[in-house]
Amino acid sequence: MSPEEFRRIGKVVVDWIADYRAGIESFPVRSQVRPGEVRAKLPEHPPERGEDFEQVLRDLDEVLLPGVTHWQHPGFFAYFPANSSGPSVLGDLLSSGLGVQGMVWATSPACTELETVVLDWLVELLGLPEHFRTDAVGGGVIQDSASSAVLVACLAALQRTGEEVARRGITRRHVLYASAHTHSSLERAARLSGVGADNVRVVDTDPDTLAMDPRHLDELISADVEAGAVPTMVCATIGTTSTTAIDPVPEVGEVCRRHGVWLHVDAAYAGVAAVCPELRWINDGVAEHADSYCTNPHKWLLTNFDCSALWLADRAPMIEALSVLPEYLRDEATESGEVIDYRDWQVPLGRRFRALKLWSVVRWFGAEGLREHIRHTVALAQEFAGWVRRDPDFELLEPHPFSLVCFRPRYPDLPVEEANERTHRVMDALNDSGDLHLTHTKVDGRTLLRLAIGSPATERRHVEQAWARIRQAV
Ligand SMILES: *Cc1c(COP(=O)(O)O)cnc(C)c1O
Repeated sequence: MSPEEFRRIGKVVVDWIADYRAGIESFPVRSQVRPGEVRAKLPEHPPERGEDFEQVLRDLDEVLLPGVTHWQHPGFFAYFPANSSGPSVLGDLLSSGLGVQGMVWATSPACTELETVVLDWLVELLGLPEHFRTDAVGGGVIQDSASSAVLVACLAALQRTGEEVARRGITRRHVLYASAHTHSSLERAARLSGVGADNVRVVDTDPDTLAMDPRHLDELISADVEAGAVPTMVCATIGTTSTTAIDPVPEVGEVCRRHGVWLHVDAAYAGVAAVCPELRWINDGVAEHADSYCTNPHKWLLTNFDCSALWLADRAPMIEALSVLPEYLRDEATESGEVIDYRDWQVPLGRRFRALKLWSVVRWFGAEGLREHIRHTVALAQEFAGWVRRDPDFELLEPHPFSLVCFRPRYPDLPVEEANERTHRVMDALNDSGDLHLTHTKVDGRTLLRLAIGSPATERRHVEQAWARIRQAV
């Protein structure tokens, strides 16, 4: 593809995306295809001769789009948002255009240095502690996902226990602590790091707030020490995936400090809300106690996947755990120790120029625009929660400080199992309708519907319409 061909077709592609976004409401939110339907429409063999890009776009429209769930649709309320924005898409396009591999500083200095600056900006924007800044002993890095972030934190925590885990492997029994509401990526980290899933302790939670019980955590850690195991890392969550519950980081952190255990704070979805000063309380205890902290701009901060920010209070144990320097990567800058090589801050070697899209987002919206986005979506969720609370046919799960609302229809005459089934049927019918997309969770044996607001396209009328559809469906 010559530069001239690229220019012509590229304009068509940008138009395609703009038209798609402008007309997104004409699609059913959740793809309605059956398993195998998309695959059956695709040729079994690759083309022998090159094809026109127009043909690719035609197949995109005809074959692939029916199999796409429209995450940027204003009626998308499922999971958590994976919102995206024009400046982010363009920043990502520029990153692809440059085609840079930023594994070490020398392979593209701007890729490393922009990432450092943007993550330092984010420390300021979110009111995170100064020691997360890269000019201190800590520092921030962009990971592909919060799952990678917790794995990296776990490897650093293992290294800090004093056992030379990275070199000799695990020789003692290490233990990780989480609650039943902690994201499943923590168990993944236990499996991948060699700690083992059986060595993840489940800390009790408060039955009302679903927050981790620090006293139980303390008991579990003491019992493990007694038994000769090594308490290695606690994962506290700010905004759990199921219901956005908040673990008490100050108290959990106090327990960690007393026992010398690494504290990882997972704020994958909710952490970016701290861009608003009135929501900054969510990070109470982070400055004093967090050894590592993660939040995903790729969920709720207008930056398309993948962009997960991880900060460390002290980067040394992570680098000890992950740094391997083969001859072919040796260079003067690395040897001098004057530069950062982000390959030592993550599992893969190679890395994309992800900072470009985050930089584009922060510059386009400014702190003001980012705050406005969070405030707008939180306000819509609070209004929706008010409607649910006032309706005698529904039950609302409190509290709901962010943009996720969990609720369920009341079926007072039905046993729990049947009520759960009915709730599922309501959700399936709504999702089949194509007008909106909800997902569910289970708390204390009861199925709840989750409505998560986060698409920049979602306006009040979409939430109103969703509520009307939900009421009709029960
Ligand atoms: C979504 C989520 C994750 C996983 O995020 P990925 O970036 O997709 O790995 C982890 N923790 C919490 C609390 C989440 O909500």
